Amino acid sequence: MNKKIKKHFPLKRLSQNFLINQDLIKKIVKFIDPQLQQTLVEIGPGLGALTKPVCSIIDELIVVEIDSNLLNFLKKHSFYSKLIVSCQDALIFDYYNVFYEKNQLIRIFGNLPYNIATSLLLCLFEKNKIIQDMNFMLQKEVAERLVASPGNKSYGRLSIIAQYYCNIKIIFNVSPENFRPIPKINSTFVNLIPYKKSPYFTHDIKILSYITNLAFQKRRKILRHSLGEIFSEKIFLRLNINPKLRAENLSILQYCELSNYIIENNIFKK
Ligand code: SAM
Repeated sequence: MNKKIKKHFPLKRLSQNFLINQDLIKKIVKFIDPQLQQTLVEIGPGLGALTKPVCSIIDELIVVEIDSNLLNFLKKHSFYSKLIVSCQDALIFDYYNVFYEKNQLIRIFGNLPYNIATSLLLCLFEKNKIIQDMNFMLQKEVAERLVASPGNKSYGRLSIIAQYYCNIKIIFNVSPENFRPIPKINSTFVNLIPYKKSPYFTHDIKILSYITNLAFQKRRKILRHSLGEIFSEKIFLRLNINPKLRAENLSILQYCELSNYIIENNIFKK
């Protein structure tokens, strides 16, 4: 180890809240259940809380860590020789390259940096075809949004996009004392398995994403107002959707129907 590097001072801007509870770490790794010959990618290994026990089971682990100082810390561990290290932003890391090189679906896990958790999830959903599963520690509030159903206060665009792409399970909640420094919020460990074939059908996910964005931007407004520029009252009624409902009352299926209507009737091209 570089002698100058004695102590790491956690960086708030990189959401560095390290796991310290060994029982919890064991529980997480047991759930992930890494196997030899699988392609595993860890986002944000930090000081190696999950990296070390995972490397005691498998021979190779790809890690994506933005903070080079932390990677210098990892170098002092014997498990470092098992790592394929990418000192990079996980939002721009080339997951496709890993998939093509290894020629198998990727398993992604990590105690995510909470400041990029939502953007990272949205970025990974788009790569669902090359992912076997994802096991993440997230803000409890984000986990609740991922699994929320219509009518729930957490239901929104993220719920719709996430549930379109993945089968999602809340595994367990985790309290702040399990991290150092202690975060101000609660956390939840979540399992996401991309669907081979989504239970929902849409011609174009970009259109689904666009209209959900539009609808939830004006969450409190009724659909006739929030989506009124695209859909007339007549169209809502033809699709059996009450235009007086609010964004949070529509099911994923109904959002898919609205987005498919746009494509099938060339609405944006008119
Ligand atoms: N896995 C460690 C643990 O559980 O103790 C650290 C988890 S800590 C919550 C998040 C980690 O992600 C930190 O190591 C941080 O430096 C890293 N990180 C933050 N932003 C990142 C980004 N955009 N890309 C990759 N890693 C990032």
